[in-house]
Amino acid sequence: MDYLEKLNTSQRQAVQATEGPVMVIAGAGSGKTRVLTYRIAHIINKGIDPFNILALTFTNKAAQEMKERIGKIVGGSEARNIWMGTFHSVFARILRSEADKIGYPSNFTIYDTQDAKNLIKGILKEQGLDDKVYKPGLVLSRISAAKNNLITPQAYLNNTSLQSEDTQSAKPKLGEVYKIYSERCFKAGAMDFDDLLFKTNVLLRDFPEVLYKYQHRFKYILVDEYQDTNFSQYLIVKKLGAVLQNVCVVGDDAQSIYAFRGANIQNILNFKNDYPEVKTYKLEQNYRSTKNIVAAANSIIVNNKEQIEKNVFTDNIEGSKIKIYKAASDNEEGKIVANLIFDKQLSEQAKNNDFAILYRTNAQSRAMEEALRRKNIPYKIYGGLSFYQRKEIKDLLSYFRMIVNPQDEEALKRIINYPARGIGNTTIDKLTIAANNNNVDLWTIITNLNQFNTGLNSGTQSKIQSFVSMMNSFRVQLEAKNAFDLGNEIASTSGILKDLYSDRTPEGISKYENIQELLNGLKEFTETENEFEEDVTPRGLTEFLQDVALLTSADNEKDEDKNKVTLMTIHSAKGLEFPYVHIVGMEENLFPSQMSLTSRIDLEEERRLFYVAVTRAEKEAVLSFAASRYKWGNLIFCEPSRFIEEIDDKCLEYMFSETTQAPRSQNNYETSSSNGYYSKPKNTLPPKRNEPPKIIHTTPKNLKKITPNISTNQDSAANLDLNVGTRVQHQKFGQGLVESIDAGKATINFISAGKKQLLLKFAKLEIL
Ligand code: ATP
Ligand code: MG
Repeated sequence: MDYLEKLNTSQRQAVQATEGPVMVIAGAGSGKTRVLTYRIAHIINKGIDPFNILALTFTNKAAQEMKERIGKIVGGSEARNIWMGTFHSVFARILRSEADKIGYPSNFTIYDTQDAKNLIKGILKEQGLDDKVYKPGLVLSRISAAKNNLITPQAYLNNTSLQSEDTQSAKPKLGEVYKIYSERCFKAGAMDFDDLLFKTNVLLRDFPEVLYKYQHRFKYILVDEYQDTNFSQYLIVKKLGAVLQNVCVVGDDAQSIYAFRGANIQNILNFKNDYPEVKTYKLEQNYRSTKNIVAAANSIIVNNKEQIEKNVFTDNIEGSKIKIYKAASDNEEGKIVANLIFDKQLSEQAKNNDFAILYRTNAQSRAMEEALRRKNIPYKIYGGLSFYQRKEIKDLLSYFRMIVNPQDEEALKRIINYPARGIGNTTIDKLTIAANNNNVDLWTIITNLNQFNTGLNSGTQSKIQSFVSMMNSFRVQLEAKNAFDLGNEIASTSGILKDLYSDRTPEGISKYENIQELLNGLKEFTETENEFEEDVTPRGLTEFLQDVALLTSADNEKDEDKNKVTLMTIHSAKGLEFPYVHIVGMEENLFPSQMSLTSRIDLEEERRLFYVAVTRAEKEAVLSFAASRYKWGNLIFCEPSRFIEEIDDKCLEYMFSETTQAPRSQNNYETSSSNGYYSKPKNTLPPKRNEPPKIIHTTPKNLKKITPNISTNQDSAANLDLNVGTRVQHQKFGQGLVESIDAGKATINFISAGKKQLLLKFAKLEIL
């Protein structure tokens, strides 16, 4: 139990109090996430099956890291079985196995924000609503807010105060749009991100037997970053924990930064009402940062009126003061930051990944990127357009989506004429009208063209038919082929590879490389083995899409990105830590943002965001601002942020005087070039060829594994009399019900572990 020695007294108490409700509300860097991690390990060490633990984190990456740490204490195979991930990924998994109850197919599509916006645009057009008034982004956030407060379209339309709010903002039809949007998603077998929580709530509300099952599956529930849960998430946790009450939440009200997306600090206060027996633990010692950084952070947050009082201290060293730099422009700010990083690497032997540059908005990354590139400092950007959001990647993924779920209309609209097949927008409009008139989905129309009146001529009809037969030829292979083989075939047969290969511009080449990168990802995914030899739950395109749809912006890190400077918005930096943190763009109207200036509540959220930024730093935090920057194409002059003044002066060191433009440290950095921080430019032109090169891969490792070797194992389930409906016991997965048997494989729905496909030859099953 030596892990318990790596905790202070309050942390240890919070870890050991495994039974009953527990809440830890404590300042940044005080070990909340560490408590959760050790607590899970402790619960497993007490003999609880990892399948009975539900742990909800803010990103999938955080879940991955936590699993690795737990694995070091209790063993990797145990850690792997914990139900751990973001709310969205865990409940998407549960919804898949329960989808039929709420009228969805189990292979439902997950619409990302772009799909949702496209759908809204289509609806606005059909309804003759002006998209300058009904801005799609705004409409979507309104729908999202409704869903996160569990307001159905009907309830929305019946709610007089929502109606009058919309009428006042000249958008009286918002409720209608919400209704049509929900109907279209349903018809397309699609859920957007908010639906994953909304429908989970519906499922748990309307199906008591399902609620009962998960209440008893998840004997222990843990939630990190609890301050940023919304009502929908709060209610899921409340329902699941209602019987056994082993719910542990950790968070920091001072770091609540997602109110704009519906997060509600009240959830922390409600916790005490919901669980009167709650044990509350205070963590006051910060282990992350220097005394100076902790003091600065404390002096920032006291400016907020609404907060739970905390006394945060640290035994770490005093550390240097927070330095503040002034730049003449945003480009110069970039140079200053790049120079400081370069300088620090030399003086402290710091690695690239010891540094983070944090900003308020994604657009600020450009100036930073340029400066880092000039100095050959490798960097990676989180957020912005992620790999999976790029056009070429979404195009190929849309093929995958349609093959898994042909009702997916957004995917269909994307690819029916990509690569070009002579099926133009007018045709798509006609098909959409026919679908709406007949109240069916587009796929039904295009697979039965002769039964519907589409007004299309026979030439166009035959083009559509050949698209349909191509898609069908992929669809029949879905079960038989692994994700890589089928994905690779789609990329070639659809014509995507050829289309991209014919474009020899640097952008075209980069797109082609991206598709190859996706295929490499598929290869890796296919080869990842299931843990148990008998477990042959297939890793096909269906499973791949499930993984991809729920990646958060912090989840895109590749191995080659490990030693790079991190550039990210402060929002996505939550929970992370870096030795050196640069917070850039410390200007009024940028940080705090212009929109927050008129309301105290919004300004307090910006201040919490600043608190989050400063508390990411272990050794040094550096602030900078520019006296001018371009915004929407105009040069504007900027004032330093009010937040700088709010920091206790004792913690600060100004690196400029009002009379000089350039800060002190800007001396002769620009001259150094061959510095050992060189990274190879990525998109060098490959040699010209006429045909797309073949991608050659070896046979996936796991194919070998599942090839049945003739077994003489007397215990094997092959000798058992298994039927659909038989109740069985598996030594690891526990009790389950046989759902189907086919060609030596059985699909078994385990109470704790969920659905698995097992090879009967190997599976050690007992009939109950
Ligand atoms: P945040 O509010 O930013 O999410 P947190 O409260 O979750 O922070 P952790 O990330 O768990 O804090 O811990 C901050 C750092 O302090 C980590 O590097 C962690 O390993 C370290 N730490 C926490 N507790 C201890 C301890 N008792 N002894 C040594 N190091 C600790
Ligand atoms: Mg944390």
